[in-house]
Amino acid sequence: MTSKYDLHSHSTASDGDLKPTELLVRAKAQGVDTLALTDHDTLGGIEEALATAKLIDMDFITGIELSTTWRNRCFHLVGLNIDPNSAILLEGIAEQQRLRMVRTETMALKLEKKGIKGAYEAVKKVTGDGMVTRSHFASFLVKEGHVTDMQAAFNRYLGDGKPAFVSTNWISLIEAVHWIKEAGGVAVLAHPLRYRITASWMRRLLAEFKEMGGAGLEVVTGRDSKEDIITSYNYAKKFELAGSTGSDFHSPHNKWVELGRYSDLPDDIKPIWELF
Ligand code: AMP
Ligand code: MN
Ligand code: MN
Ligand code: MN
Repeated sequence: MTSKYDLHSHSTASDGDLKPTELLVRAKAQGVDTLALTDHDTLGGIEEALATAKLIDMDFITGIELSTTWRNRCFHLVGLNIDPNSAILLEGIAEQQRLRMVRTETMALKLEKKGIKGAYEAVKKVTGDGMVTRSHFASFLVKEGHVTDMQAAFNRYLGDGKPAFVSTNWISLIEAVHWIKEAGGVAVLAHPLRYRITASWMRRLLAEFKEMGGAGLEVVTGRDSKEDIITSYNYAKKFELAGSTGSDFHSPHNKWVELGRYSDLPDDIKPIWELF
């Protein structure tokens, strides 16, 4: 029996629906042996997760998912096995959090211009001290009846170039890789097939990512098909990146994505956990 790794998940510290404790308990029940919590631009859920992991005797990996910029586009970088007390990382994410705060205000103003009031108060009420993400705005738009579902919220208001979209100067990819390495962790490019860039841009990205000190590629994520996994696997092999696996779980309400539920990493690729 191989152990099951899920190295990409979210809690209420960002846009997940479960508290860190609930997330770990669910992961264990789903047969996950090793879980990484990778909330968007925050380590806010880590302390609780570490305490719970001890209590329920589960292997826990400290992680984060950073929003980064490369060639004017946003890419998600997962940092794994990081020191949550790293000064460089903590300073860095404080700035990311400031950017998120400003973006939240600007997005709410843009929605107001479209006649939609109260978004700021509503998302702040839900998130408390946690990160505000576009998911929170999407939930608000659904709840208030402005759109029928989350996808429509992105298509109509929140997606790139839509009326409430706010272009944000996230940290550069190279700097984000540097933070993760300084914090003793490994840098993994998340969900490579979700960026809608051409294969030649993907090759350029991965060549540079490897140069920067990037360690891995998420070869298997929640909703990948067999063909997707082969595509990502080929990229990882070509650029000598280790392979990572994770569900990108956000909520029990999404029946398509479950903790630990996805295909195994192909045999002949180095698993990212060998680098921890
Ligand atoms: P943000 O980092 O604030 O831009 O929020 C991005 C988050 O929104 C992602 O991590 C997803 O959880 C969610 N998201 C992005 N695009 C979509 C989409 N088309 N449909 C549903 N959720 C999405
Ligand atoms: Mn998310
Ligand atoms: Mn992501
Ligand atoms: Mn994610």
